Amino acid sequence: MANSNSTGKSKSNIPYKIYLPEEEIPKAWYNVRADMKTDHRPILNPATMKPAAAEELTPVFCEKLVGQELNDKDRYIEIPDAVREIYKMYRPSPLMRAYRLEKALGTPARIYYKFEGGNTSGSHKLNSAVAQAYYAKEQGLKGVVTETGAGQWGTALAMACAYFGLDCKVFMVKVSAEQKPFRRAVMETFGASVTPSPSDTTQVGRKILAGTPDTGGSLGCAISEAVETAVTSEGYRYVLGSVLNQVLLHQSVVGLEAAAALALYDEYPDLVIGCAGGGSNLGGLMAPFMADKLAGRRAPHFIAVEPASCPSLTRGKFAYDFCDTGMITPLAKMYTLGATFIPSANHAGGLRFHGMSPILSQLYHDGYLDEARAVAQNTVFDAATFFAKTEGTLPAPESSHAIRAAIDEAVKCRESGEAKTILFGLTGTGYFDLRAYMSYNDGSMNDTIPSDADLAQGLSQLPAVPEGLL
Ligand SMILES: *Cc1c(COP(=O)(O)O)cnc(C)c1O
Repeated sequence: MANSNSTGKSKSNIPYKIYLPEEEIPKAWYNVRADMKTDHRPILNPATMKPAAAEELTPVFCEKLVGQELNDKDRYIEIPDAVREIYKMYRPSPLMRAYRLEKALGTPARIYYKFEGGNTSGSHKLNSAVAQAYYAKEQGLKGVVTETGAGQWGTALAMACAYFGLDCKVFMVKVSAEQKPFRRAVMETFGASVTPSPSDTTQVGRKILAGTPDTGGSLGCAISEAVETAVTSEGYRYVLGSVLNQVLLHQSVVGLEAAAALALYDEYPDLVIGCAGGGSNLGGLMAPFMADKLAGRRAPHFIAVEPASCPSLTRGKFAYDFCDTGMITPLAKMYTLGATFIPSANHAGGLRFHGMSPILSQLYHDGYLDEARAVAQNTVFDAATFFAKTEGTLPAPESSHAIRAAIDEAVKCRESGEAKTILFGLTGTGYFDLRAYMSYNDGSMNDTIPSDADLAQGLSQLPAVPEGLL
């Protein structure tokens, strides 16, 4: 074999798209918690301020998913055959070598992106939706209830429920439902029912409407409505498309496939970059590389990229907080802007959640997730447009946060002459975000970055937690 030593190997024979064969779809998810040095703090029941036991969570979540949520022991968790069979319909997703982007930037860096936007739901969220719908069906439930912000999660869940014959109720943040009617149409086509949130169908929704009748809603508020509906409907459970440990677990397929595809060409990333809303795609993409870092085998540099208008990692507090505005969910220790924080309505780039995955938060706090960056919306769309023109794929605004950082890093390589290997997550397609592209194109897009005083407001309302738990 020529060129088989990693130091001298020519990288010129790498194809534009690296597809793994179907049998290379992972057979197990990787559970990073088994390897974390300081595990993140347990979720708390707000009524008792004690760690929530499985029995307290099963009225809200599916049983098997609660098991996964609390599992910090098993490094690998087998992917059920029925889930893997559906993965085979759209996975492995391609790992792309961004030759044209590299050339346009004049960078010596080698840039790769894992493209998760090729399935009908248009994003990586389907990876967890399929798993969650499977476990709900296995438990004999009638259906599941959830919320969706930009709409990708609701679409993914609607698809997954159609595969398994489950009912699907979606609370969609009202501004998004208005801005993205086509998302709603896709969900309804797959059989889901969609309610704009806040709505008058729940107690918490009515309360929020009474206080702020003109509100466009928020993810935190839609979560409250979905949880309330799930616990008051016989045969239903609540499911969530990001933030939770179980979701990061399911998303590890993304990173495991990326690592296997890179290994075919003797590649290993120096930089792993992901956009961060609730943390699931970055958590999934970095999973196998984080395993190497935690074990001291390699030292890739990880970068989380978030919007400047919803900057939980870069400007939030690492504290226990509710996951929803209505303050009915368990408390999680995470970087948060406060459950009452609502990003500006003219923020079009997604990633609007006030908190961040507890796993990612702890890894960031401990320095394993090296860096978090907040980027402004216009610069994100500059990157999105540049990427679309060079690589020919219209990226989701969320994904474009990662593109922004990847381009910035590639430009640094041009200046320093370093040929780094950059891997980023291209989490979705931008076809449902054309209103955002329209406002960028006509120059009406602006950035609303919260002031310190705005943030102090949300942070002042963090719940008081007994000191031993902090
Ligand atoms: C939901 C979503 C995100 C952000 O969520 P994470 O949990 O942080 O991954 C990013 N990109 C796309 C396309 C999404 O749909």
